[in-house]
Amino acid sequence: MKKGHIVAVIGGACAGSEAAFQLASQDIEVVIFEQNDLPYGKIEDGLPRWHGKLQDKEKKKIDEKLTLPGVHFVPHAKIGENVTVNELFEQGFSAVILANGAWRDRPLVATGVDEVKDLSFCYQNPFIYWFNHYHEKSYEGSTYPVTEGAVIVGGGLASIDVVKVCQLEVACQRLKEMGVEVDPVTLEHRGIPRFMEENNLALEDLKMKPAKLFYRKRVSDMPVASPPDNCTPERMQKVYQVREKLVNNAIKKYLFEVEPHCVIKEIHSENGSVTGVTFQKTRYEEGKLVTTDEEIHVPTSFVVSSIGSIPEPIEGISMDGEVYRISDTTTGRVLDHESMYGVGNAVTGKGNIQVSYRHSKYMSSFVAGSLNATEPDYESLFKGQEEAVQNNMQEIFQHLSECSVPSDEVRSRLTSWIKAQQGKQDYQDYLTWRDQILSAR
Ligand SMILES: Cc1cc2nc3c(=O)[nH]c(=O)nc-3n(C[C@H](O)[C@H](O)[C@H](O)COP(=O)(O)OP(=O)(O)OC[C@H]3O[C@@H](n4cnc5c(N)ncnc54)[C@H](O)[C@@H]3O)c2cc1C
Repeated sequence: MKKGHIVAVIGGACAGSEAAFQLASQDIEVVIFEQNDLPYGKIEDGLPRWHGKLQDKEKKKIDEKLTLPGVHFVPHAKIGENVTVNELFEQGFSAVILANGAWRDRPLVATGVDEVKDLSFCYQNPFIYWFNHYHEKSYEGSTYPVTEGAVIVGGGLASIDVVKVCQLEVACQRLKEMGVEVDPVTLEHRGIPRFMEENNLALEDLKMKPAKLFYRKRVSDMPVASPPDNCTPERMQKVYQVREKLVNNAIKKYLFEVEPHCVIKEIHSENGSVTGVTFQKTRYEEGKLVTTDEEIHVPTSFVVSSIGSIPEPIEGISMDGEVYRISDTTTGRVLDHESMYGVGNAVTGKGNIQVSYRHSKYMSSFVAGSLNATEPDYESLFKGQEEAVQNNMQEIFQHLSECSVPSDEVRSRLTSWIKAQQGKQDYQDYLTWRDQILSAR
């Protein structure tokens, strides 16, 4: 590889740090632009905090990659806002890699959704962010009014986490009223029935109306485990069983309910606060999902929409529906710009894991699932992400081997510009910055 290239990477989490590692291994300088204080993405703000051990392990991997020689980090640099896409190209980067994940909640289409003016209706991403951070001393964000009998609209992995958070929050409140102090992470690890038993308490004493997850198809269709490529009908039966087992295990431990075959029709509110939801029932007719005339009305004062995350639009990059316009998911080349490539969730959106992870041995274990599985294997998902990035990098290396290296003058101007961007945050080096941020929390 020719020496002297400098590559910009947007987003420093799982995909961005792996891209940086791959580039640095070839002696290519990398600058990671991260919108947040720290580059942990969905690991820190998407994975609920009861996965503490996995979060620590994954963060450590990112830290190691970000402290490699030739890898520079610029915090609080949101591309499209603080720094524009055009600016990156004008500064002379040899390539720009989009590794900014999928942070926009897919908008919920339902009558009345715009009438809700407070947090009694919310989306999954800010809700999980709140759950992961509200206990920190520096937290200044919103507080979500989780109440018993919450309604969750969804069906994927994240929606299981959301319904669990609702159950754990209400159970902790009830236990506190009964004089028992427990935090949601401990309660998650023990499971609600076991914790009650260990504390000589009766489940009925909780007097909790369960939170309920509404899904448009059957439980066996819930995408908590996905079929492998070229799945045989026999294998598909196993995938259905794994899905049911994963969901039923979670129901047993956290006591929520699942209502399949429901699509949301309307959110009802009074004075800007949620009072209930109307769903329409669905059924399969000759293998096709159809909506029926049957409706159910569910009174509730808290609704979370967890129907998926999609990449956020960035000024200067065109979208093709919910995703960026790219040539294909293997090369990840962004069609608007010759030297811009996408990796990770930024390219696939979340629904496309099979496409991006086709070659991943780790993903195949996640995808096929195991009948003994008690919960989704997030570690495989993150590992699969790294492998997918490795596949994407071939095209980027090819581009770098063909394009000319920036002149000394461009490199020196670029270096000063990067230092100026870092200086805006008083940033010195990655580890000092990380420790400063963590100690302030
Ligand atoms: C509940 C849950 C469900 C999951 N389901 C799936 C799934 O279905 N499919 C799947 O593939 N993976 C899934 N995952 C795994 C996980 O989301 C991904 O595999 C992995 O985190 C994606 O890594 P990433 O680096 O692409 O994105 P992220 O972890 O989202 O990291 C993106 C980074 O870019 C930063 N960023 C965003 N926008 C900008 C900007 N404009 N400028 C600068 N920085 C920016 C963000 O702050 C973040 O640090 C799931 C994870 C969780 C927690």
